[in-house]
Amino acid sequence: MSRIVVLGGAESGVGAAVLAKVKGFDVFLSDNGKIKDEHLRTLEKWGIPFEQGGHTESLILNADEVVKSPGIPANAPVVRALVEKGVHIVSEIEFASRYDSAKKICITGSNGKTTTTSLIWYLLKEAGLDAGLGGNIGKSYAFQVATEHHDYYVLEISSFQLDDCYDFRPDIAIITNITPDHLDRYDYNMENYVRAKFKITRNLRPEDCFIFDSDDTITIEHLNKIILTARMLPFSQREKLSQGAFIKDDKIVLRYEDKETDIYLSELALGGRHNIYNSMAAALAAKATGISDSVIRNSLKSFEPIEHRLEPVLSVGGVLYINDSKATNVDSAWYALECQTRPVVWIVGGKDKGNDYSALNDVVRDKVKAIVCLGLDNTKIHAAFEDMVGSDRICDCNSAEAAVKAAASFAVDGDVVLLSPCCASFDLFKSYEDRGKQFKEAVRQL
Ligand code: ADP
Repeated sequence: MSRIVVLGGAESGVGAAVLAKVKGFDVFLSDNGKIKDEHLRTLEKWGIPFEQGGHTESLILNADEVVKSPGIPANAPVVRALVEKGVHIVSEIEFASRYDSAKKICITGSNGKTTTTSLIWYLLKEAGLDAGLGGNIGKSYAFQVATEHHDYYVLEISSFQLDDCYDFRPDIAIITNITPDHLDRYDYNMENYVRAKFKITRNLRPEDCFIFDSDDTITIEHLNKIILTARMLPFSQREKLSQGAFIKDDKIVLRYEDKETDIYLSELALGGRHNIYNSMAAALAAKATGISDSVIRNSLKSFEPIEHRLEPVLSVGGVLYINDSKATNVDSAWYALECQTRPVVWIVGGKDKGNDYSALNDVVRDKVKAIVCLGLDNTKIHAAFEDMVGSDRICDCNSAEAAVKAAASFAVDGDVVLLSPCCASFDLFKSYEDRGKQFKEAVRQL
């Protein structure tokens, strides 16, 4: 019996271990840290041997193949030892796809993955199709392949998961956009990061589709360097296209094969220019899946905003509080600020991933009246924006509660308080979800 060792005992690793067990492998799971109770229960239920709090090399290096969780970097000592020994390492997505014949719509990119993935899944469900939702969202893809059957999967895939993919092939691949993010995992080399994202396209065949943002210069530059035989479906807010999605007057036009479909921008459920891109990408995926125009229109209209992504929380004294805690990089915060029509008190900061804040200069000058820094080290934010808003209109806080109170003191009737931090959350919070939840709780306490 072949031996599969799974590294990492979170959602994707445990899912892969269950699938390996179902497929009759000798399975072992190893996690360097502490495995969450819910995952421990799953491992016990399926009778999967495991260890936590360290990696025992003698139990790992004897694997025929290793499934590595995306959180474990390629330079971790145990991964190096495996590479040295020549053991094949794959991601959970690669492993699970071997046992799945469903049609797969797969989404990667720097921003908009979760929104676009959720929109597409919603469109498929509204069209009455049997679709699983997975990847970085909800239940892992591998666990679903092990325990359920679906005709379609809509999968959100991070570049870390693509790093260890080889034969994995989506039927429809989407790159939402590419902007600098996570460069720490790619030797601070943008080219490496772009190449990792583009791995989603590498097994596409002529009958498959590639959906991409043709306004995104990084995407287009890379596309010009490679050969793709898939059907190309670009989307753009700047130019008219012979195939794909573009803007004409107050409508999105979908041009697919010989037909055109119009969708009024005013009817889109999700606000903001970035969500026009996401809606275009989702609508093209739906067209390529054969979903009817009326279902596409109605679904884009009835979709509800996802938590922590430009999520309106409450109006207090005429001030609207918006939770965009998921904005963990400069580009996503740019879109959040850009779509505001009222003066903004901006809550920003956290664990900086090497941000260059200068891209925000114009939008901050235009929209932001005061800044509340919510991070342990806010020096870069002060340096970037203090002169713009004035030193009496910027302050530092180290809890969500204090930040909301400070923001409330800057805001007047008609303003917006926007949490769109530009940064990861780990300096003060457990996760971006924790940060968003604490923000919402503090708003409710006002
Ligand atoms: P991801 O899963 O790629 O992190 P999300 O859909 O969760 O993307 O959105 C993350 C953040 O990026 C949110 O703050 C959201 O407002 C912003 N965002 C969403 N779509 C886009 C886009 N197409 N371009 C830029 N920013 C976006």
